[in-house]
Amino acid sequence: MSDQATLNRTDLKALDHWIDGATVASAGGAYLETVNPMTGQPHLRVASGTAEDVAKAVAAAERARDGWRRFNAAERGRLMLGLAHAIRANRDRLAEMERADSGKPLAGALAEIEGSAQYFEFYGSLVYLPTGDVLDVAPDQHVFTKREPYGVIGVITPWNLPLNQAARAIAPALVAGNVVVAKPSEITSQTTIEMARLASEVGFPKGVINIVLGTGLDVGEAIVRNESVRKVAFTGSVGVGRAIGRIAAERIIPLTLELGGKSANIIFEDADLDLAAAEAVKGFTLNAGQVCSAGTRILVQRSVYEAFTEKMRAEVAKIKPGENLGPIITPAQFQRVQSYFKVAEEDGARVLAGGKVATVSGQEGGFYIEPTVYADVNNAMRIAQEEIFGPVGVAIPFDTEEDAIRIANDSDYGLIGTLWSRDISRALRVADRIEAGQIFVNVWNTMSVQTPFGGHKNSGYGREKGIEAIHHYSHVKTVTVKI
Ligand code: NAD
Repeated sequence: MSDQATLNRTDLKALDHWIDGATVASAGGAYLETVNPMTGQPHLRVASGTAEDVAKAVAAAERARDGWRRFNAAERGRLMLGLAHAIRANRDRLAEMERADSGKPLAGALAEIEGSAQYFEFYGSLVYLPTGDVLDVAPDQHVFTKREPYGVIGVITPWNLPLNQAARAIAPALVAGNVVVAKPSEITSQTTIEMARLASEVGFPKGVINIVLGTGLDVGEAIVRNESVRKVAFTGSVGVGRAIGRIAAERIIPLTLELGGKSANIIFEDADLDLAAAEAVKGFTLNAGQVCSAGTRILVQRSVYEAFTEKMRAEVAKIKPGENLGPIITPAQFQRVQSYFKVAEEDGARVLAGGKVATVSGQEGGFYIEPTVYADVNNAMRIAQEEIFGPVGVAIPFDTEEDAIRIANDSDYGLIGTLWSRDISRALRVADRIEAGQIFVNVWNTMSVQTPFGGHKNSGYGREKGIEAIHHYSHVKTVTVKI
């Protein structure tokens, strides 16, 4: 976002809400201006919505709700698969939008769009799953359970994988029979709006998917406070997750919270060190380190510490800002990531690579950071405890398996744990004791739409993805009939 919200600039493309199957201008008529992170130049005017726009969207969702629920499984499934197909058919255009909003390299943007299509495909194919059980309670009773949708689901998402995270929540919510009011990040709104437009084009009834644009305080909070919104799925920072949690507690509505991470990547001395080094570097440079599941704490057994960190340095040299490493999203985040260079120095960490801003020829105004590794880090340092959300990894030595587990768990977060070892018994022992929602052994972050995803501790609660997510978007009703 630029420092000032601009109301009158008309030379930039404007993006408006998608409510009740149509483009709708903001009730207040205000726009926010976004900046292209590759160039630092103004990019887009995004409608700055209000509680009034949210109310309009929720009313449209309420009107659509019963109709959507009455759709039979085959109809819902066909529409979901149709949307998956439309996203794929438009993938180059969607990837260009994502790239312009977030600056990510084209390959990353394309992968994200493909992942988004897969959510609609996967959940569209689950419509035929049985939704309840018959319970043998007593001979004179017929007792069964059924899963019911909540109704209107609020979906609030961040800027790092914009369409992917929106699709990750919207697809299971819809397949469970809910309708949706979603708010993408005000920084990266284009693809979520386009997805809703495509949904309309393939035949989704109006009001089933509504998108309201604007800031967290004006639109996000209004969604959480709206009394017709019966559940909220939030992906974003811990601070905002807490704020939403307070409102949800007052309203007694359920939440799915997908928050931050500071995930441990444990390298045991018997690992394939070349492979582990390449993957460890990918772990904190993918999407310029702006992923919640980034493996930013690299725990290396002391006997191989020097050899391994040298291998990491060689891998980091292959990462080129402006080519396979995108910029940091906003000027504010750019400053924030840089502030950790000073923190690292004060903490006494050793710069193994990077530690500087990068200049990319032809994109001198872009917000680029060199891929950075700090060595001789201990886990108490701020750079080992705080989520930096930039291409920064820290290498922490450890001695024993027990040490590795203790250090890995000595974090407020618990999203991912990765470990590298040829000893499968050890791998299973360690996997069992790491406090994280997902563990990878001898591979990093190969997730799929089928694998449930979520956190422990400050990384959040509830689960997205997989069949599991459907249970988080529906509740069980028990029906007892005397016969
Ligand atoms: P953020 O919390 O600032 O914003 C996320 C969304 O919440 C945005 O749409 C924002 O406008 C909205 N928002 C802000 N304040 C709000 C409020 N008071 N009420 C309601 N909505 C509000 O996060 P961000 O900076 O956009 O994204 C980065 C964070 O997201 C990182 O911490 C990252 O780890 C986390 N994240 C988590 C996951 C996951 O799946 N666990 C995935 C991606 C990102």
